[in-house]
Amino acid sequence: MTASNGQRPGRAILGGSFNPPHVGHLRLAVEAREALGHLVQGVDLVPCAQPPHKKTGNLLPFELRAAMLEAALAPLPQLRCNRLEALRDGPSYTWDTLRAYHAAEPGTDFYFLLGSPDFALLPTWQRGLELPRLCHFVVVPRGDLTPDEFMDMTRALWPTASEHPSALPGGVCMALPGGGLAYFLPLPWLAVSASRIRELWLAGRSVDYLVPEAALNLLRTHRQAIAAHWREAQ
Ligand code: ATP
Repeated sequence: MTASNGQRPGRAILGGSFNPPHVGHLRLAVEAREALGHLVQGVDLVPCAQPPHKKTGNLLPFELRAAMLEAALAPLPQLRCNRLEALRDGPSYTWDTLRAYHAAEPGTDFYFLLGSPDFALLPTWQRGLELPRLCHFVVVPRGDLTPDEFMDMTRALWPTASEHPSALPGGVCMALPGGGLAYFLPLPWLAVSASRIRELWLAGRSVDYLVPEAALNLLRTHRQAIAAHWREAQ
């Protein structure tokens, strides 16, 4: 990767289990899209086919998670679901996904969006610390993470990382070995998670306004199958 000057096409990517998709994911995608401005043409939300790091017993079928995402994203032209991880067998490694993106869209800069807890876990990802060869990161803090703490966290991952003048509104930026940048984007973190939604659902409680309406309609349609999957983890 080379530091982008906005002259090349760009695309943001938000990977996740989306089990189910929720408003935290959508607000992250919408606000990152706005903050990145002319650097990207849009945001791809990429449902993970086989998460390498999560228990898969409670994972809804890929088809249903992707269908929920597509339904939720239908009114948002700059956000789309990409099902490419279902085309590969085995664990869905982000390294492989980004390589597939480079093959499909050569000359594009990719901005991988993620929450700070996931950013801290990069050393546990397949070739996680080499990912700056393939993408920039846009990191959204969960909790009270200050820009200085973000820079410390980044140096703990890559000791040679150094501050870089590119920055998104209100944030800071670090240059990483491999050429990618790590942007700190201080957005409000909505207090919603897929785990809590699954708990509420299994308890028979409302998940209104946590799951986008169009996705919620699919959850309701597949109520019995969903209970079977989500109960498996109880
Ligand atoms: P689970 O509760 O099952 O672990 P999750 O709600 O964290 O799931 P994922 O699909 O694993 O959802 O998350 C995909 C990406 O979205 C990750 O980078 C994660 O940090 C980020 N994310 C999850 N919840 C939020 C939120 N409320 N606000 C901003 N980003 C979020």
